[in-house]
Amino acid sequence: MADKRDYYEVLGVGKDADDAELKKAYRKLAKKYHPDVNPSEEAAEKFKEASEAYSVLSDPQKRKQYDQFGFAAFEQGGYGGFYDGFGGADIFSDLFGDLFGGGGRTRTRSANDPMRGANVRTSVNISFEEAVFGCEKQIEINYREECETCHGTGAKAGTSPETCTRCHGTGRVVQTQQSIFGMMQTEGVCPECRGAGKIIKEKCPDCRGTGYKTKKIKIKVQIPAGIDNGMSVRVREKGEPGVNGGSRGDLLVEVRVARHPIFQRNDTELYSTAPISFAKAALGGKIRIKTIDGEVEYDVKAGTQTDTRIRLKGKGVPSLQNPNRRGDHYVTLVVQVPTRLNKAQKEALKKYAEACGES
Ligand SMILES: [Zn+2]
Ligand SMILES: [Zn+2]
Repeated sequence: MADKRDYYEVLGVGKDADDAELKKAYRKLAKKYHPDVNPSEEAAEKFKEASEAYSVLSDPQKRKQYDQFGFAAFEQGGYGGFYDGFGGADIFSDLFGDLFGGGGRTRTRSANDPMRGANVRTSVNISFEEAVFGCEKQIEINYREECETCHGTGAKAGTSPETCTRCHGTGRVVQTQQSIFGMMQTEGVCPECRGAGKIIKEKCPDCRGTGYKTKKIKIKVQIPAGIDNGMSVRVREKGEPGVNGGSRGDLLVEVRVARHPIFQRNDTELYSTAPISFAKAALGGKIRIKTIDGEVEYDVKAGTQTDTRIRLKGKGVPSLQNPNRRGDHYVTLVVQVPTRLNKAQKEALKKYAEACGES
């Protein structure tokens, strides 16, 4: 195993890549190196390498072990058989469903295996301040669950689904078909039962035979302080229901942060501008500056030039990793030149000009 490449490197993703990124990366490589597309030996090796990396990283438990122990996690028994050539093509048919006409070549998963439900994505709008300090949001989602009337079977009360005679309950059939690569034997979804392995003769009227019902539910989502626009919060097991006892998928809530009329943000730092009068800039004195925590008093030095940038330490955004650590707030002081002067002000400024030796 000495010359094995790091799984993340193989897929060309970062250590923090989420499911979607992994899937995308793997899909791209597989499209390039799949033996049906590229019959060279080198491609076969690359495909095998990518499939192995994906099969580990797409499984949360295996990924955790890999992150912790590296390849050693899978040596000496344990996960010895986690990748067995095309036998591990589970993930393959999940990903390629339609790409090679009827799924992967050798799908081993049977219709009765437990399968985790899919993740569901949604979004929530929050204010600038809510992103800085964190908040709790109630959101409404479509929540699919087993139909209570038929207990998920989809069959009318008093009847039960019958095993599909075409695929004998496996949900898969072997088909020979003409493809652009020549005649291919493919194992595909059974057209009779559409992969369910069972056929419902009399449908449950409550769910119209689907076995599921969707209802709107309200859930509370904890949004951590320091979250930024476009980030997602994961709510465990609020996604699609699993099949055959598999766990539910997760709900991923993308956070959309509103703009602020005064503050701009970059990661944990805030930026704004504050006007100061010509007299105060010249003479120095106290001014009040708006921060995300409210107004603060600041002592302006005498002789402050316009566009001077000052730093308000710890008045920025809390770090997502450590909410006790806050960034800074940078304020650009803009000296205001008066545009409308009354008589007294004009006189004073004329005297000032004379004192400066101006005519
Ligand atoms: Zn039902
Ligand atoms: Zn069937």
